[in-house]
This record gives sequence, structure tokens and C-alpha cells, in this order.
Amino acid sequence: MAAPESEEVPSIPKFLMDCSAKDIALNWLQATDLTRDVYQHLAYYIPKIYCRGSNPNPLNEEMLAQHILLGPMEWYLCGEDPAVGITKLEKANKSSQLCGRVFKIGEPTYSCRDCAVDPTCVLCMECFLASVHRAHRYRMTTSGGGGFCDCGDTEAWKQGPYCLKHKPTVSGAMEEDPMVHLPEDMIGRAYNIFAIAFKYAVDMLTWVEEDRLPSGLEPPEKEDTYYCMLFNDEVHTYEQVIYTLQKAVNCTQKEAVSFATTVDRDGRRSVRYGDFQFCEQAKTVIVRNTSRQTKPLKVQVMHSSVVAHQNFAIKLLIWLSQVVGYSGGLRRILCEVGLQQRPEEDSSSLIDKLMLCDSKLWKGARNIYHQLFMSSLLMDLKSKKLFAIRFAKNYPQLQRDFMEDDHERVVSVTALSVQLFTVPTLARMLITDENLMTIIIQTFMDHLMRQRDSHGRFQFERYTAIQAFKFRRVQSLIGDLKYVLVSKPTEWTDKLREKFLEGFEVFLQLLKRMQGMDPVTRQVGQHIEMEPEWEAAFTLQMKLTHIISMIQEWCASDERVLIEAYRKCLIVLLQCHSGTCDGEQPITLSMCGHTLESVQYRVSQHQVSIHLPVSRLFSGLHVLLSKTEVAYRFPELLPLSELSPPLLIEHPLHCMVLCAQVHAGMWRRNGFSLVNQIYYYHNVKCRVEMYDKDLIMLQAGASMMDPNHFLMIMLCRFELYHIFNSPDYGKWFNAEHTNKDVLQQNNTLIEEMLHLIMMVVGERYTAGVGHVSAEDELKREIVHQLCIRPMAHSELVKALPEDENKETGMEKVIESVASFKKPGLTGRGLYELKPECAKEFNVFFYHYSRADQSKAEEAQRKLRKQNGEDTALPPPVLPHFCPLFASLVNILQSDVYVYILRTVLQWVVEPNGHAWTESMLQRVLHLIGMALQEEKQQIESASADSDFTFNFTSKFSRPGEAPENTPSILAMLETLQNSPHLEVYKDMIKWILKLFGVIKKMRERTNSAPIVETEGHGVEECIRDKDKADRKRKAEIARLRREKILAQMSEMQRHFIDENRELFQQTLEELEASSSTAPDNSPIVPDAALIALGPRQTRVFEKKQVVTCILCQEEQEIRMNNKAMVLASFVQRSTVLSKNRTRTIQDPDNHDPLFMHPDLACGTHIGSCGHIMHAHCWQSYFDAVQAKEQRRQQRLRVHTSYDVENGEFLCPLCECLSNTVIPLLPSPRSPLNSDNSKNCAGFPVLSRWLKCTLQQLNVLKKIQEKQTVPDNLSNANLEGIEVPEGFQPDVKPKNPYSDSIKEMLTTLATATYKVGLKVHPNEQDPRVPIMCRGSCAYTIQAIERFLADEEKPLFGHLPCRQDDCLKALTRFAASQWTVSSLTVVQKQYARLLSVLIPNDDKTQIPPSILDVDMFHLLVSLVLSSPALHCHDFTGVSLAVGHLHLFHLVTMAHIVQILLTYSTEENNMDQESTDGDEEAAALIVCDKLRQYSGSALNSMSSGWHLWRYIKTGIMPFLRCSALFFHYLNSVPVPVELQENGPHHFELLCRYLSLPTNLMRLFQTENDTIEPLMQRWCGVAEVQSFVKGERTAISYPRESNKLIELPDDYSCLINRASCFTCPKSGGDKSRAPTLCLVCGGMLCSQSYCCQTELEGKDVGACTAHTYTCGCGVGIFLRVRESQVLFLAGKTKGCFYPPPYLDDYGETDQGLRRGNPLHLCKERYRKLQKLWQQHSITEEIGHAQEANQTLVGIDWQHL
Ligand SMILES: [Zn+2]
Ligand SMILES: [Zn+2]
Ligand SMILES: [Zn+2]
Ligand SMILES: [Zn+2]
Ligand SMILES: [Zn+2]
Ligand SMILES: [Zn+2]
Ligand SMILES: [Zn+2]
Repeated sequence: MAAPESEEVPSIPKFLMDCSAKDIALNWLQATDLTRDVYQHLAYYIPKIYCRGSNPNPLNEEMLAQHILLGPMEWYLCGEDPAVGITKLEKANKSSQLCGRVFKIGEPTYSCRDCAVDPTCVLCMECFLASVHRAHRYRMTTSGGGGFCDCGDTEAWKQGPYCLKHKPTVSGAMEEDPMVHLPEDMIGRAYNIFAIAFKYAVDMLTWVEEDRLPSGLEPPEKEDTYYCMLFNDEVHTYEQVIYTLQKAVNCTQKEAVSFATTVDRDGRRSVRYGDFQFCEQAKTVIVRNTSRQTKPLKVQVMHSSVVAHQNFAIKLLIWLSQVVGYSGGLRRILCEVGLQQRPEEDSSSLIDKLMLCDSKLWKGARNIYHQLFMSSLLMDLKSKKLFAIRFAKNYPQLQRDFMEDDHERVVSVTALSVQLFTVPTLARMLITDENLMTIIIQTFMDHLMRQRDSHGRFQFERYTAIQAFKFRRVQSLIGDLKYVLVSKPTEWTDKLREKFLEGFEVFLQLLKRMQGMDPVTRQVGQHIEMEPEWEAAFTLQMKLTHIISMIQEWCASDERVLIEAYRKCLIVLLQCHSGTCDGEQPITLSMCGHTLESVQYRVSQHQVSIHLPVSRLFSGLHVLLSKTEVAYRFPELLPLSELSPPLLIEHPLHCMVLCAQVHAGMWRRNGFSLVNQIYYYHNVKCRVEMYDKDLIMLQAGASMMDPNHFLMIMLCRFELYHIFNSPDYGKWFNAEHTNKDVLQQNNTLIEEMLHLIMMVVGERYTAGVGHVSAEDELKREIVHQLCIRPMAHSELVKALPEDENKETGMEKVIESVASFKKPGLTGRGLYELKPECAKEFNVFFYHYSRADQSKAEEAQRKLRKQNGEDTALPPPVLPHFCPLFASLVNILQSDVYVYILRTVLQWVVEPNGHAWTESMLQRVLHLIGMALQEEKQQIESASADSDFTFNFTSKFSRPGEAPENTPSILAMLETLQNSPHLEVYKDMIKWILKLFGVIKKMRERTNSAPIVETEGHGVEECIRDKDKADRKRKAEIARLRREKILAQMSEMQRHFIDENRELFQQTLEELEASSSTAPDNSPIVPDAALIALGPRQTRVFEKKQVVTCILCQEEQEIRMNNKAMVLASFVQRSTVLSKNRTRTIQDPDNHDPLFMHPDLACGTHIGSCGHIMHAHCWQSYFDAVQAKEQRRQQRLRVHTSYDVENGEFLCPLCECLSNTVIPLLPSPRSPLNSDNSKNCAGFPVLSRWLKCTLQQLNVLKKIQEKQTVPDNLSNANLEGIEVPEGFQPDVKPKNPYSDSIKEMLTTLATATYKVGLKVHPNEQDPRVPIMCRGSCAYTIQAIERFLADEEKPLFGHLPCRQDDCLKALTRFAASQWTVSSLTVVQKQYARLLSVLIPNDDKTQIPPSILDVDMFHLLVSLVLSSPALHCHDFTGVSLAVGHLHLFHLVTMAHIVQILLTYSTEENNMDQESTDGDEEAAALIVCDKLRQYSGSALNSMSSGWHLWRYIKTGIMPFLRCSALFFHYLNSVPVPVELQENGPHHFELLCRYLSLPTNLMRLFQTENDTIEPLMQRWCGVAEVQSFVKGERTAISYPRESNKLIELPDDYSCLINRASCFTCPKSGGDKSRAPTLCLVCGGMLCSQSYCCQTELEGKDVGACTAHTYTCGCGVGIFLRVRESQVLFLAGKTKGCFYPPPYLDDYGETDQGLRRGNPLHLCKERYRKLQKLWQQHSITEEIGHAQEANQTLVGIDWQHL
């Protein structure tokens, strides 16, 4: 029963088809009780249409439902044939100005950063393209499903709310009543039928009984059929469900997957159909199987008629949204029906009922009714408002339900809040009328209530996954609150004020519960046992950050609200403070004649919390008082007198001290949770409402206090008071038993305190604190980021705080402080600081982390040095404070301030002082600088009459008073200026002294406050002299040292050169030798005469080749009898050149690779990194790697980036992925062949040579036929066989190679065979030599294509490693026959030749010349010919054979080209008259036409023909030139190393061909003509000529990666339209584009998994096997990420070729900036592919990032 596929589709009973919609509707029109009649109709028919078997037949159901159920309703509604009626309706309808397109998952959406009211306002692609925002700064995202296009919503856009399509035609059309366009009678009917249909649907969907139907719907006869219905939840995994289903209903895995997929998509699916018992049984098994760890899967056994009605109810809702789409009037009616309060149901409406049942409905039902809401309620402005009210009224209940619901938020009705709350007028209305703000906050608090400590503060449980899940749900409330607050009111009403403040008060209660949460106490002695929970509290703080900021902005927009909020906040703050620090005795502090009482509190001993949201909100409001000037205009309304400044600063100061102490290492035993908290406290995501506000609070408090008192409290809280209060502190540490830890701690604390003073006085870039704008603030942030280093746009964005709309505002100001530098081929665009902005640099910028600070300091010093400036980094000139904060500058001239500075300087000056650090000094200098800057500024800005009181300089130059009697600051600075150990700060001291001089002059000029001259000069001079002597002595020591080192160095250098002279010499020689193209290798031969092959080949004598092993560093010469040297290399299959991606090797074990098809469907490529090793060194290295990996895998079960079992390893030098080695060989021709070839002047012509060769082959064939034991020629019985003269088949050639080389020849040969055919290694297999020759040919072809595409000359431009690789590879392929069976190679040679010279062997019919790649044939023939030639002692050289073979193949190729000639491509004008070539071409062509007996395309002219031949044959000639060059080592003419016009002629000469290629046919006419005749006669050619089959034509075009659109959103759109090919019309979750063939795949999903070699693999992996022989390049469209795959286990991600305007990629599409194709980067990607470097790239990526190794790439 569970096998749905096997069931037959029931035919449709006739009585159903006979039903007439019109008749039924006419009856209904007459009805007295319409509801009863309609229900009767439904009750009768629905069970007959729906749910007729285990396999619901949607097509039948659909059709019948329309015919019998919906048809009558449409008829009734229209009162006439709906086809007519609906058309009328549509015509009368004024098109809605709202687009309202509901987004599919993955569909691109666009928001305008300039005009959208908030980021949730989005457009569909169609509207966007027709809108003004196209030219604005837009952001692109992919929809997560749900939500709709806001085009036409005037409240969503600051400007341009309509696209061209939705622009209203009549003004004011929005307000019009949509019902006026409906006929009166229709309105009545619509009310009737909508009321019945809607109520029916709601009743059915919310129906909970499994076996019974609502009254009126009971079927006339009830069948005994049930469904076992499985429901979706978010708890169980796919695997669990699939496994359980297989057990419970005995289905196959495939069926189970299909069930699970449907359950996941629709929310429910019947898994069994039958009688009650049968279904109940399945239910029991499912529940039992899934109840162990979690709550069981939800399963219900439901009567089929209940399911039937529910299915129709869904259909009905879809129908309703469709119908209201025809007419705004109908839409309004449906909304009214839905919103109507029903007295019989506690006056709740249908819509209420649906909403309140939301969490009980299954996913599919929810989606459908949400969509109905969107197309009805949300599209009708009047109803939207009413709906919003209902939504707000039900809000607490909906949220409660949602909390218990186990579905994601997207399918919850609560997600509709974004559609309602973000509309500013609605939000405002809901706040004032429904008190929405309070409701939301209250609901939020209710959900967090349980988690409180004894003080009423929040206390969260351990932040587990479940906890996080629940917490996320609660947070959606914060999201709603954000929507409500996102648009600030422009106008305030009293009601709004009242309700906002009410909400504010509740919000304060929330913050009060956060104030002081997660308190910490310093752990001494033992480390804490368990890290305390901190994440939940911080998550809460983080989520609330924007809310807090927005609430402040709301307050700022109305004076009365601000004042009231300030008051309320103060009250709560005081409540928070009450009770703390009670009972402690106050202590008395006194310093420099100032005294104060303070509470006794030590951060290092008492509880302290980093959470102070109430204080921080208060400080935020306080700044607003200043910014909005409310503080100055209505001081009488403010509770300023109630403020207690020492109380205000207390908590923030604790936080700052805590950070300082943590940094000083005092809290080490408190573990990482504290470190994390402190990190986030400063982090850009939190700092605005944490750290920044604490600083402001300190500033606010200090501005209201005596600066001396403030500093004394600071000293006290930093626990440094006693240090500064004991004059001899510096000397304490002379004692030997100094506690180093304490010393260091104190030093750090002093540094931190000095820094804090700097910040309190110097951080004025907050509007309200200083006279600055928000833009100034932002500019300063950017300047300081760029002072660290140039940064990319995204880096800057990350470093800047975002507002609630995710905007930093950076674009507005960046131009004024930075210049943009475009990116190159890699990397990204960077912003560089404008030089003139460097003067704003403050090394103690308060948002720098310590790392940032030292980086910035270093960078700026370096920059100044480069510019030839001094390296002082003085404090920048600061803006003025706002009046409310103005008194803060007095800190800079307060007694305690000067005292602190002087004390630190004193420690520095004091000999043997241990109690100071350089950073301390640096800070003190900075502070002095700040004070001087301030004074200078004040003098400058003081107008003539006004007085200024600031006077730091007088204290600066005054010495300390008794009892310390320290020298003045000035005196001490002058001392330090000459101190040699403070070189770094010299410039800074100089700067201070200079500034002091300037101020002095200014003061003198203004005649105010004469400066008291100091009396400390005597002491200074004394110290200065002493210093001088000291310096001199030290300089002398340094000089001596330097000289000694120099002498040592030069000695070493001499030695080095002596020892390595030889090495240098050799390196030079090697360099010369390895550059194979260097023409000076053979200076005797003129370029023009260089010939690469044949008897006239240029003689070259190869230099001896000496190479170094990278493993043992020993050198060795390449010789036949030496130990083998090898190149690390990688063999892979390739489809890069493929012209047919559908053809794959089907049966590798029986595949015959002898002939390569011209479509080059699958080749074998060999590449190398060019690193050379001894064969034996490599082998022991490989063995070691293998052993290590086996151990490691057993132990750790980890994967590596390379597959050792498959012979893979990494090159020991460059870590390039390799799987075999290529042996390096000397030039092969000299030893083997020159022996038996005499130097003869004349050589046999083609016909004679051919005859001779065929004879010889014939002899061999006869011998082989007689032979029983193969490969034993010496015992050959030559009796009865006529052996031609000079042919000695019984002579066995001696293998000249050393054993080590022979072994390597076999190793590579076997590897090539194994990888190329994907078979098990077998070195005896006769296909081994074929694969070797084939891989040589293919690799050359690939490189030739790459050079052509890159428009590089054929020679001289390959990287060394490729050059070496090709040479080694060609020589290997040429020598491989020596380790193969001679007979096998001879047989292959014979078969290869039979393509060109047909024989009469009927057993092995060769392919026609249309179906052979001629270059592969050439290489194979040339490289297998020695196997025959080794028996030849006639004196004819092997070179003669090569030349003849080459000529033969070339002619065959020309014939091939002519046969496949197509006229269309050749429509250019003739440029010259026909010459010899042209005439000859025409003749050959005519002959072909004659032989093939056909209408071969007629040639327009000889000129065209010849041109065509020339272009067609070029790739072949180029490949041949490469091949013979590497085979014979003949240097290449210089012209071929450059791009030029005459390459054809040059190549012909180099290849020993006549430039008039057609002459080949003439000279060998007698031989070639019969051959041509036979070539054309074969069946395949005949059938091609008749047009029955196709063939590859020439030249083959190079393969490129597919064309990509310029605009990335085109791709997103394409992907969003793409549906999974396997699960009928479903959206694919990870649409992925194959960049090789352009296919779109449904990746990373169960639906599209297939089985490959016994394993389940994802769509991408499966695709690579057909498209790329296991290698693939994809673009993951939704992630904007390139994916490389190789085999089943390897893969990596790669940056996409799409960049935004800032030259950055956006992997994951997180930023959403518009992306455009970067052609250069795409070309680079293409190059990687063409050069077969994808696998290598993956290897490198995986080595660099081990996490990539663990990814299940095969499932993508
Ligand atoms: Zn739209
Ligand atoms: Zn539109
Ligand atoms: Zn715009
Ligand atoms: Zn070695
Ligand atoms: Zn290497
Ligand atoms: Zn799929
Ligand atoms: Zn593909």
C-alpha cells in the first residue's frame, strides 16, 4: 500500500463530469438558505473528488474541483458565465498602485539606501528596474521567502515610491472607495458567497477532530478509509525521518526521501492509506521510533473525508486570493467579511480565529492563509489599518503561541509584523490607540520574567542551544519594537507623548533589570571552577543597542518628551543606586591641599558588573540636553540640582577600572568569560551604548565637580591613591625583594589611568559634548582607522558603528578624508588616508585596541620619517566643548593633574628608578601637550577684551612645593631631552618645549599672566654635563662594536664566495641549458635553415644536463645509465578541449583508446611544478608520507588534502599536488638510432618507404601468427616467410637505460594508464603505451590552445616548469616503448597505419579519417615507429620514417579539413588572384568531390579554399612544431618566438614541409590518389557526405567558460526562476551554475542526490563526472562564490569574478552592494581551468585551510 507509484489512476466517474456549474449556481441563486445548500453540495462532492487513494492525484482533483466546486461559486459570484464576468471585473478595476508581488525564496529584492524609509522596504526586480532607484545607492538581497514588493507604498519611500508600471494614472485614486466599480447585485452575492466560503475554509483548517466532520458536512455515506498523516517539526532531522519511515511503512529509501521532502515543504504528508487499524499501526511505530531522545514526531490517523475537506479548504483560500486579484472591490468585500466581528463567537472575526490558531496549523496551511492575508488585507489600505488593530490586540497571545511553536518564524503569523509596524502612520496609530510600544515591551519582559536573581535583576541560565533557540524567539519582539520605532515622529501629539512616555517607563523597568546583571568578583588564589554564563546577557544588550539609540532619538525630537524622559530616567537611576555601598565607612582623601570624603569601594574586592544600561541611557539623555540646548533654555525644568556628580561617575568608573585591572592581569583567575565581556564592551557592535556612554557619564560627572576631587576619586578607584600619596614611591623598588608582579600591575594601572584622563578631557567628538557634527565624528573614526593602514570598503564598514538601518554614513564623508585606489587582479580596492588628514591623528584615540594603537603609531612614525619630518606624534588640536561640558578643561590645569604629571616625570628623571615605563612617559608627554594645546587655543580664540583663565604654563614651569621639592616639569623635560635612552620621545619633548616657547611669546604679547621663571636651572645644568660625558662614552663603545662587526662580516662574505664559487658558475650554466629556446645554443645554424625533423633535420648536440635533487641537494647529470631523476607531476583526465561533453567512457575496462576522436571528448593531461628529485629520494619520501598518513588516519580519522591511497603526494618543495613523476631523459635519438642508420645522401621516397614498411609489417604479422609464445622473436621461426633484405626481426634491441630509469618509465606509464582510463593499475596491459602517447599528444594540444587563446607566440613564452615538463613528457613518451612488449607496440603501429593505408584485415576495421584526431595519430605513429625500425638494418634512418609519416598525416588532415568544409563561415572578399596554392587546392578538392561521389560543398574560389585550409591546419602545424621541437631538441627560429604575420611559412619550413602544402599532393600523387579514393569510399564518409551524420570541422574553436552577465542580479534572478529538476516545480535551495557548460544544478540537496560508484553524491559532483571528468568549476549563485570540485573528496571555494564599486567581492552576499563582472578576474579563472590548475588550486587551498578538508564536498 505504501508504494504510491504502483497504483493506477482511477478513471473519472461520469456523474462527476456531468455536473454543470451553471445549473448548480442557478439553484443557489434561488436558495432560501444558501449556506445549507452550499454545504450540502460540498458534503456530497468533496469526498468523491479528494482523497480517493494513497496516491492523491492532483491533476484529477484540480480539474474536478474547478469543475464541480469552484465553477459554481464563480458562476454564482458573477451571475453569468465567469469567463465573461471576470473579464468585465478586470476591466472595471482601477489597477492597484501597490505591486504586492509575494517573493519566492531566493528571489532578488532591492532596497534603496537613499530613499527607503527602512531596509525592510524592498522592490521586486521588475519594479526596481523601472524605478528611479536604479541610479541610487541600492542594496541587493535574496529573499528568504514571504514578504512582498513595496512598490507603490508611499509610506515606504522617501521619494520615488512608484515604478513606471505602478504609477497612478489618476491622482487621488487611492482614497476612492473601490466598491463603486462593482454592480450592486454583485456586491450582495459577493458578500454571500465569500462569507460561506471563508467561514467554511477557516472552520475546516482549524478543525481538530480526526474522525468527524462539522455538522452539515457529514458525508451521506462514510467509507472506512484513513490516512496516517505525518507532520513536520523542526526537531527531527531528515535522516531520522527517513530512517523511521522506512521502518514504519516499509517503503524504499527513495520513497522515504520523497515523503520527508514533502513533509518538510508542505508541513504534512500522508504516509499510509487504508483502514483505521492499518494506519494506527504505522503511527505506533513512528511514535515509538522517534520518542527516545526528543518528543515524538507528530502523527495523526485521520479519516479520509476530513483530509479531503481540508485539502479543499486550502484550495478555496487560493481561489479567494485569486478572485480578489481581479477587483479592488471584491478585495474590500472579502476583507470586510474576514474582519467582521461575530457575536456568536465571542465577537472574534474569522481573521482573529485564523491568527489565533496559527501555531496549531501545519506549514502548508499557514503559508496559504498568510498569502491570502497579503493579497487581501495588506493590499487594501483601509483593511490594512483594521487588520493592524486586530493584530495588535492579539499580539501578546500570538507571541505566546509562537514561543511554544516549533516552526521557524517565516511560517508564523507573527512574521507579518514587519508589514504592519514598519508603516509609519500605522505604527503611530498603534502606539497612540493600542499602546503598542508598551504592549511589546511588556510582552518581552513577561517572557524573560522567570530568569531573575534575588535583586530582581535578570539572571540567565547557561546559554545552551535550546536556550539560544528560545532566546532568539523572544528577540523577535525586539525586532518588532525596532520596526515601531524606526521612523521617528515628525509631529508629536499629546496622546503620542503620553503613550511614548508610558512605553519609555516600561522600557526603563526592563533596563533596571539589566543594570548590574552578571556581576563578577575578583578571584584570588584559585582559578574559577566554571566559566560563568555571560552570553545571554550580552546578546540581550547587543539586541537592545539600536533600540536604546532610537529611543534617545525619539526623545531628542521633542523638548517636553526629553525633559520628562530625563526625569524618569534619573528616578530609576537613583533607585538603582540606593542600597549599594551602604554601611561602609567613608574615607577621607587629601592631596595638594584638597580634601574630600568618598565611599570606600575597591573594584578588586567588591562586586562589579559591566551592565549599566540605566546609567548609560541617562548619560545619553544628558548629552541630548546639551545637543538640543534644552539644558540652556529650560534649566528650571530640569532636576539638575538632584544630581550627585560623585554618584553619577561611580558605576561607569568601576567599569573602566575593571578593564584596566583585567589588562593589568589582576583578574587572570576569572577565566575567559570576563575577557570576552570586556572585549564586547569595547567592540564596535556594543560600544556606542556601553563604553562610549560610560565615558560621557564620566565627562558629565567631572564637568560638575571640582577637577581635583574628580582626579582624586579616580586615583582612589584605580587603587593608586597610596602610590601618588607617598613621595618616595619610586624608591621603594630599589629594595631587592621587590614584588615584580605588583610593580608591573601598578605600572599598567597608572598607564591606564593616564589614558582615561586623556579621554575625559580630550574626547570631544560627540555632538553635545563638543561643538561637532555627526559627520565630524564619523570622519574622525575613519581617519583613525586609515591611520592604521589603507583599508577596503568592507573593512571600514566593519570598523564603524552601524545604525538601525545598517548604515554607517561612511559614503557621505569618505571622499573628504580618503582617496580610493582600485584593485588589481587579486585583492581589493583600498581607501588611503589623504595626507592632510594625518595631522588629526591622535595616538591615544579611545576606540583603538592596543594592537591598533601600536600599529597606528608605528605606521604614522614611519610615514613622518618618509616625509622627512620629526617623529613626534603630538596631540591634535581639539574642538571646543559645549557649555555644559566646558569646565572639563580645568582638569588640565588642576593641582592634582600637575602633581600627577610631575610625579611620573620625577620617577623617570630619578636615577635607577624602576617605577616607570616608557608608555607612562609617553602618556605624560601627551597630557602635557594637550594642556599646552588647550592654552594656546584659548589665547588664540580669546578676543581682545574677554579674559581667559586657563593657565597651565605657570604651573608647568613652577617647581613642586615642600615636602617633595621636585623640579618643575619644564626643568625635568629639559633634562630628559638629552637622555640617550629616550631617543624615541626626543622629538615629542622638543615639540613640547617649542610650543611652550610659542605660548610664552603669545602671553608676553598679550601681557597677561607673566610666566614665573624657574630656579631649577642649576640642577639641570649639572645633570646635562653628566649626560654629555655619559653619551660620549657610550658613542665610543658603539663605534668600536660597529667596526668589529663590519670586519667579521666581510671576512664571512669572502669565505662564502670562495666556497660557493663553483655553485654560482653552475647555476649560470644551468640557466643557459634549460632555456631550450635560446638561439645561441647553435650559433652555427642560421635561423632560416632550422629544421625540426626528417633526414635534413638540424644536427644539435645537447649540452650535458646537470640537475640538483631538491631532497638531498646532490647534483647529477642526466644520462641513460645514471640513476633516474624525476619531476613531480600530476596526471588527470581532462575535458578542457572537449567538443562533446555528453560522450564519456562507458566501459573503461574494455575501452579501446588507440584512436582519439576529433571531438577530444576526454583526454589525459600531465602537468608538473618542475621540481626535480632523485627517483630513489622521491620513493623514500613517498613511502614515508604514506606510512605517516596511514598511522594518522587510523588514529585521528582525519582527511588530508591529498589521497595517499591513490598515489597522491605533495611536492616536497612547493606543496603542489602530485600523483606521479616524470623521469628526465637525455635526447632519445642519438644512442638508439644513429648506430644503425648510415649517413646517406639520398633517402627513399614515400612510395618506396611505404612499400618497405608494409612488407616489414607483413613479415611481423606472419611471424606473430605462427608464434605461440609471444614476445620471443629470437626463437622465431622464419621458415617459409620471405624476409626483405636488411630486415632482421630476430634481433632484439638492447635497452640502453639504467634499471632505475626503466622503473620510472614503468611507474609513469602505469599511472597514466590508471588515471587516464580510471582502471586498476596493470603495467602489462597493452593499452599502457597507447595512453602514454595519447597523454603526450593531449598535453601538447592543450598548451597550444592556451597559447593561442592568450595570443602568445608558440615558443619562448611558456613558464620554465611547463617547458621542462613538456620536454620530459615527450621524451618519456618516445622512450616508453623500450619497456613495453615489442609485439604489442608493433601491432599498434600497424593498426595506426591502417587508418591511412587501409589493409584488407576485416577483423579490425579502422575508423574513417573523419573520426580520428590527426595530431594524436601523428604522435602515436611517430612514437611507436621505433618498435619496427629497431629491426631495420637497411640503412634508412628513423628520421626518414618520421618525415614520411608526418607528410602522410598532414595530407590526411587536409583531406579531413576539405571534407568538413562549410561555406557559410567563409564569406570574406577575395584579396588576391589565385596562385599556385589556390589552383592546387581546387584540384585536390575536385578530386575529393569526385571520389566521394557527391555534392561536397562547392567552393567559391581557390583563394577562399586555400585560406580555409591554412586556418584549419594551423593548430595541427603548431602542435607538430611543439612536438618535434621537444622530441628532437632543434632550436626554434627567432620569428616563431614573437607574434608575427608569417608564422605559417615559418612553421612549414621548420617542419620540413613545402610552404605550398598542396605540393605534397602533387609530388606523391601516385601514392596519395588511391589513398584518397579509399578514404572517401568508406561508409562513414559516405554517410557524412549524404548529410546523415555530422563531423568535427576545422579549426576547432577553443573552449571558453560560459559568458556571464555584467550585472550579478541577472544571475540571481535566473537562479530564482530555476526549479529543482527532480521535485516537480520546487525552488532549488542552492542553485549552482556550471561555468563550463552553463548548466544550472540543484546542489546541496537531498532531492538531487544520485548514486555514483556506489556513493550518494550531490548534483554538482555528479555533474563533474560527465562535464569535466571529475573536475568542475561552479558558481554558487546565492552565495556569490565560485566552487572548485575535483573527484569526490576535494573541493574549495574561490572568490567570484564579481566585484562591487569598491573593488570587493561579496561572498555570501552579505553586504548587498551591486556587483558587476570583472572581466580580468573571470579571465584569470578561465586560465586556471585551461591550464588544468583547478586540482592544484584546490590542493593549495586545502593545505592553507584545513577546515576545507573536512567538508563533504561530494554532497554539494
Ligand atoms: Zn514589484
Ligand atoms: Zn512597481
Ligand atoms: Zn532611491
Ligand atoms: Zn636526491
Ligand atoms: Zn614543486
Ligand atoms: Zn533538487
Ligand atoms: Zn557543466
